[in-house]
Amino acid sequence: MKNVLSKITLFLVAAVFVISSLGVQPVSAASNPFKDVSSSDEEILYLWNKGLINGVSKTAYGSEQAVTREQAATLIGRARNVNGTPRKTKFADVDPSRYSSGYIQSAVEKGYITGNSDGTFRPYDTMTRGEMAFLLSRAFNYTHTGDVFFSDLKADSHPASLYTAVNKIATAGVSNGTGTGTYSPNNKLIREEFAIFLARALSSTFKVSYKNVTIDNLNVTVNSLNVRTGPSTGYRAIGKLNTGAAFQVFGYNGSWAYGKSGNTTGYVSSTFLGKAAPATANNRFITLDPGHGAQDPGAVANGLREKDINLDVSKRVEAKLKAKGIKVYMTRTTDVFHSLDARVDKGVASGSNAFLSIHTNAASAAASGSETFYSASVGNDSKQLATFIQNRLYKAMDHPNRGVKNYGFQVIRTNPLPAALVELGFVTNKYDAAKLASGTYKDRAATAIAEGIEDYYNWKAKN
Ligand SMILES: [Zn+2]
Repeated sequence: MKNVLSKITLFLVAAVFVISSLGVQPVSAASNPFKDVSSSDEEILYLWNKGLINGVSKTAYGSEQAVTREQAATLIGRARNVNGTPRKTKFADVDPSRYSSGYIQSAVEKGYITGNSDGTFRPYDTMTRGEMAFLLSRAFNYTHTGDVFFSDLKADSHPASLYTAVNKIATAGVSNGTGTGTYSPNNKLIREEFAIFLARALSSTFKVSYKNVTIDNLNVTVNSLNVRTGPSTGYRAIGKLNTGAAFQVFGYNGSWAYGKSGNTTGYVSSTFLGKAAPATANNRFITLDPGHGAQDPGAVANGLREKDINLDVSKRVEAKLKAKGIKVYMTRTTDVFHSLDARVDKGVASGSNAFLSIHTNAASAAASGSETFYSASVGNDSKQLATFIQNRLYKAMDHPNRGVKNYGFQVIRTNPLPAALVELGFVTNKYDAAKLASGTYKDRAATAIAEGIEDYYNWKAKN
């Protein structure tokens, strides 16, 4: 019963196409004759107003209905302006008198379609999303490929592979998959999707940019793991990662994982990736990042330079953490300059599992006190780290508590590790400056920060 009905539907759809190809053109650019198409379905309206598609009836577009192979060949053929005169095709199962025959034969001649291995075209079969990728990539001559991954498609660099076809249309801005890291190549193509694909292929207005989706959060299990530009040791190394470094996986290509660690994106051997060990008493390892350095003094006032205070306090924190058995990596131990990206990369590559940037504030002479920042974009652990530190620091400094604040400073916002940024006090305030110049208060600050970090690891061990 279902079959008979769907054949009748197909016939009706085909009849609409025939009528439309004889051509009643739409009257105005804004016209929308379809009751099932809203004004936000811009791709459908764009194609309709160009005279490239029609509805399943005068008032319905039929967004959810499947697209057959002959319909797809016809619509692509029209969009590419090929000769659509009905004629004999190379396929025995395409009737030469049928509306689609000319488009099918032209598509064969131009290399858009090849048909099935048994010499048939199966014009009434439903088009799949995978077949659409082949058709579009050939009809629009897409040649560029990029680092495109979908979890339901195995990477395969063969020029005729399904993966290559999907990669080409994704790289061309015609598809970014189904939105959750999959492409669903075996799903039936529905008329709404067809319109979206075709509109993007025809007009840059509708194009999308392919975006990677994280499918695994893993950690590096060896030191000095090369990050490469491609999936083999023949590709150039663009960075190194050490044990424990976080690696967000976007996709796999054979035994290689493509993904991101800190600011480095590339391929690593998946043999050396594993699930992160939870933070335990034996796994306490933080990066301390003394802000500024060398030609960049940071805030300067009351005879103080921020870069010197940051380094002095950081070294004191380092010593106190080591005494507690907490491992420390320092982004700098001398008066040198590192970019913000480099600070994050060094911290990640060290294998540490938390990050604290230490700074000193500047503002009007009246501003006073300590404050600690986290970036809400990178998860709850960062806020916990900032809170544990701030709760001890302002008391130890006999300071106003300016609080724990969400702010996207680059070293905490772009950091894959739980990360906080502390502002010890204001060099621009005479009372704060006196404390920041005093060894006693710098030591009190360092003790408070080290205890806050220890609080954080104790909390992590329980959570
Ligand atoms: Zn600073």
